[in-house]
Amino acid sequence: MDRVIIFDTSLRDGEQAPGFSMNTAEKLEMARQLARLNVDVIEAGFPISSDEDFEATREVARQVGTLEGAPIICGLSRVGLMDIDRCWEAVKYARRPRIHTFVATSDIHLKYKLRKSRAEILQASVEAVKHARSYCEDVEFSPEDASRSDFDYMCDVLSAVIEAGARTINIPDTVGYAIPREWGERIARIREKVRGMDKVVLSVHCHNDLGQAVANSVTGVMNGARQVECTINGIGERAGNASLEEVVMALHTRKDFFGVETGVRTEEIFKASRLLSHITGIHVQPNKAIVGENAFAHEAGIHQDGVLKEKLTYEIMRPEDIGRPSNKLVLGKHSGRHALAARLKDLGFDLAGSELDRAFKKFKDLADRKKEVFDEDLMSIVTDEATQGPETYGLEYLHVISGTGVVPSATVKLRRDDQVFQDSGVGDGPVDAVLAAMEAITGLKGRLLDYSLRSATSGKDAIGEVSMKIDFDGTVVSGRGSSTDVIEASARAYLSALNRVVQPVGQRMTEVGP
Ligand SMILES: [Zn+2]
Repeated sequence: MDRVIIFDTSLRDGEQAPGFSMNTAEKLEMARQLARLNVDVIEAGFPISSDEDFEATREVARQVGTLEGAPIICGLSRVGLMDIDRCWEAVKYARRPRIHTFVATSDIHLKYKLRKSRAEILQASVEAVKHARSYCEDVEFSPEDASRSDFDYMCDVLSAVIEAGARTINIPDTVGYAIPREWGERIARIREKVRGMDKVVLSVHCHNDLGQAVANSVTGVMNGARQVECTINGIGERAGNASLEEVVMALHTRKDFFGVETGVRTEEIFKASRLLSHITGIHVQPNKAIVGENAFAHEAGIHQDGVLKEKLTYEIMRPEDIGRPSNKLVLGKHSGRHALAARLKDLGFDLAGSELDRAFKKFKDLADRKKEVFDEDLMSIVTDEATQGPETYGLEYLHVISGTGVVPSATVKLRRDDQVFQDSGVGDGPVDAVLAAMEAITGLKGRLLDYSLRSATSGKDAIGEVSMKIDFDGTVVSGRGSSTDVIEASARAYLSALNRVVQPVGQRMTEVGP
């Protein structure tokens, strides 16, 4: 059957969006899950944009791209030759590396952003592709802002880069302006008009500004595109990118209509979605297709009756198709290390040695406080553990007094290297008091931009997950923490953000890509 290549750009286009930035450890954790999901290509980053992005891309190539059956690891690069060198330096470790180079072809970008003529841009594109091909066979080219580019000029550029050796031609709707029928016609015309298109893969990359990203992507497939660029949970600039789970499940569920297939292991979709939410602290809306809390909940009486009588009456997909857990009790107080390791393995976390020791200790602490431990609780423990960057400050002790008629106050002890520092603070609530105490110890003053609290599971004893966005003197960082005690979770979230600031990251350039 005809195969559509699924190109995931959660770690590049998705990660660039405000509030979704991930450190290297977080990207690695996510990349491992993308490999289990069996996407065909992981776009791991934009190496020249910052040193952190370079390092993250390189580590994904080294640690995930070298695994048996690993996806292609791709890096993004502008058409500058030095950009391409830097990109190759990062992706070259993968078994199957790809260089993805792009340049804008719309007059509006040429005039205001690049200040170059059409001929200059065509020339630069050809040279870029040739240069990339001198490093590897697998080269992708994107004309940025394709939907607003002059059609004939763009086709000339595409014909020239295919001639120069590009293997994949990606057509982005960078500003999310296209409407399905028009977009489909455009893709079909590109196929007709561009010389050599029958020898390369045609790809689509759609943004969701008008809510058409998924519709445009599958319309692209109907018109001959055989690669779709998308992200988990549809994260991305502004209104986001086409959502991977929606594209994949549409193609999968309506195979009768599209007549194509993907290599994605759909049972890994739910885990990928939840892992991304855990890492970024940003959750999908309840009515989000495929992965939202209510996506499979048949609440209305008449539907429920129908579902109970015969599932297929209303269910076009089964929850197990995307790997939704049934929220069953998995582990309790008396479960041992082996049971924990086995359950974590099922969830996709292969821990051993000291990592497993730490997770087990956290699990025991949790099981003491909470009778039943669910899959979501475990994910919460482990993703925090696996993705926390280097810890400059650690929480040693926390004591909070709060209530009606008292001034909330907190005493905190933080460990830094071998030393323990203690201070206290007061505030207009217990969280404020804890943050004041931490400020007194570290001397770092943060302005809280956003605070959210969510329970990992149902039940009064559920783990609370706190996500924060904090502005430390112009550097905005996010942090998260979890505990059955929401004040402690808040303290941990603040501390994880603070630890990111004391391990400063470099500036990222403003260029964003297709
Ligand atoms: Zn994009």
